[in-house]
Amino acid sequence: MKMSKRMSSLAPYLFAEINQKIAEKKAKGEEVISFAVGDPDMPTPAHIIDALCQAAQEPANHRYPETEGLVELRQAIAGWYQGRFGVQLDPDSEVLPLIGSKEGIAHVALCFIDFDDVALVPDPGYPVYAISTKLAGGQPHAMPLNEAKDFIPDLAAIPAHILKKAKLMWLSYPNNPTGAVASPEFFQKAVDFAQQNDLVVCHDAAYTEIVFDDYQAPSILQADGAKEIGIEFHTLSKSYNMTGWRIGMAVGNAKIIDALKRVKTNLDSGIPQAIQYAAIEALNGPQDYLAKKNAIYQRRRDLLVDILNNIGAQAKPPRGGIYIWARVPEGHTSTEFATELLDKHGVVITPGTGFGKNGEGYVRLSLTVPDATFVKGLSRLAEWRSSKARLKKR
Ligand SMILES: *Cc1c(COP(=O)(O)O)cnc(C)c1O
Repeated sequence: MKMSKRMSSLAPYLFAEINQKIAEKKAKGEEVISFAVGDPDMPTPAHIIDALCQAAQEPANHRYPETEGLVELRQAIAGWYQGRFGVQLDPDSEVLPLIGSKEGIAHVALCFIDFDDVALVPDPGYPVYAISTKLAGGQPHAMPLNEAKDFIPDLAAIPAHILKKAKLMWLSYPNNPTGAVASPEFFQKAVDFAQQNDLVVCHDAAYTEIVFDDYQAPSILQADGAKEIGIEFHTLSKSYNMTGWRIGMAVGNAKIIDALKRVKTNLDSGIPQAIQYAAIEALNGPQDYLAKKNAIYQRRRDLLVDILNNIGAQAKPPRGGIYIWARVPEGHTSTEFATELLDKHGVVITPGTGFGKNGEGYVRLSLTVPDATFVKGLSRLAEWRSSKARLKKR
């Protein structure tokens, strides 16, 4: 068997070793508490599931869907963008439903990246931006996100020879993994920069609806000229606890949307229609549930940030997203700290290096742990500190 060279860009799975250890512990009957996965623990709201079940009974929804999705769904997405951000979108040419936003994020590379072309990707960042660039034959160029700069990339620091080869720039705020947010001024700066340098901007907006302390996250499409050079990815996964149903969208520049649609028409056959009806209900239906859910995450955020600071893992409370990005206590690498917590305390956290080399010195903890388990996890984190103190005393 001779595999393609591109398979080598799929590096051995970073978490393979951690997963192996989790499996061993579970086999021994030990309880492992995971703060590693960003997958909402709360169920999809009932009115959305009702719409899904009703649509599933309808024979018209048992057949192949269209790649471009139901017109009612595209209208619901455009209406939601208008209401939420004041951004006007043409449902026919500027909206494309996706089989979860990850799908579109991965496929858009095929629209722009040829051999040796560059995509600018945040580091640390959601791994799909870099991997999809490599699978398309291109080169990701890391834009470091540093705490000193509030995890906003320094566009002026991108070398001229890289910019010449760059075709795409990836941004994502509220950010995974750092929890940082971006101002409308930064989005304007990024759009202007993209126009000056003939770049396409892809903004991954997965977390705009998970916000705390009355913060409101902007859309990059609110910036002047954004629709001339960019698209935004959104998903119902995190906002409406719908990760299992796989539905999201790309919106913005009509040429980019059309290119992505052309790629997708050749690769997939759209989103099951019952799920599209569930998404329509999510976007058009009552929204009061969002604030209730965010209040739960905010309470967990505050508890977790407190404990982390108590054990010497400095963390600030993020204004959006479902993660805490904490500094590793002194004297440890990201992986050492994560490994020690798993080995000695049965707690799984993600080493920052899983998101790029600039993630060294940090770990990521997710807020999507059910309350009872969450509290138990907190006391195990606290134990880490007390067991260290005991070691020192000896
Ligand atoms: C969860 C996540 C996604 C993917 O969500 P889908 O379920 O595929 O819609 C995309 N980007 C970021 C940053 C995420 O954290």
